[in-house]
Amino acid sequence: MSDISVSSLRTCHCGLVPRQFTSKTLSNSGRHFHKCANRDKSCGYWKWDDKDFSDGVVIAINQLQL
Ligand SMILES: [Zn+2]
Repeated sequence: MSDISVSSLRTCHCGLVPRQFTSKTLSNSGRHFHKCANRDKSCGYWKWDDKDFSDGVVIAINQLQL
């Protein structure tokens, strides 16, 4: 329920549309995230589904990955 229009076709560093996966870890079971669709040469891009987390949490997670 937001008036802010966010592109659902955001691309990773390869210029590909990230694929959606479902987390199977105990701490994040069932969470959706997007990941680089390039299996052979992944750029390392991944991001939690925006609907699951606030921007602040997403940024914190991304920083942990770096
Ligand atoms: Zn990529």
